[in-house]
Amino acid sequence: MEMDRKFARQYALNVARLKPGKHEEAFEVGDDFFAHFENSLIEEGSVLITLKMEKYGTHLDVCFLLKGEVTLSCDRCGNPYPHTLQSEERIIYAFDPDLNFEGYEVMYVDPDAPELQLAQEFYDFINLAVPMRKVPDYEVHTCPPEVLELLGLDAEGQELEDESPADDDEPIDPRWAALKKLKDQSDSEE
Ligand SMILES: [Zn+2]
Repeated sequence: MEMDRKFARQYALNVARLKPGKHEEAFEVGDDFFAHFENSLIEEGSVLITLKMEKYGTHLDVCFLLKGEVTLSCDRCGNPYPHTLQSEERIIYAFDPDLNFEGYEVMYVDPDAPELQLAQEFYDFINLAVPMRKVPDYEVHTCPPEVLELLGLDAEGQELEDESPADDDEPIDPRWAALKKLKDQSDSEE
């Protein structure tokens, strides 16, 4: 429990201390950050999260700018590869539950609570910035040749065009095909 609080404080923003106006603050998350989340898809990475904020009497408008690199595992071979990540998110932290910010993501916070815990937001935003389909460009990562072969892909991850053009392929000798049919029949009779 003590560890949890310590962890949360690392990624907390002291809102009460912020004066009205513009502010900027940056947080950096690394491997230890991801280790804190159970069953995290990401185990390694380094992401810089810059908060561009504007505080008003009624709310705090926060833009989260994420930039960094995380290690993902390739959908094809399961090996790790580096994924460059860059995204932008925005949340309005409103101090008054009666305020309406239509069209924005809003979270209502107690204006007297000194700290805003942001670890969960950071984690969610990083995961949102990760592609569903984890098939990296061949410049970034190359799957082992045996995996590519199994999937019928060339070294650049492109599908091998073994069906077309058909003329280049060895045509199946009709006599051979007939023979094979005969053999299959006799096999099934046994
Ligand atoms: Zn791969």
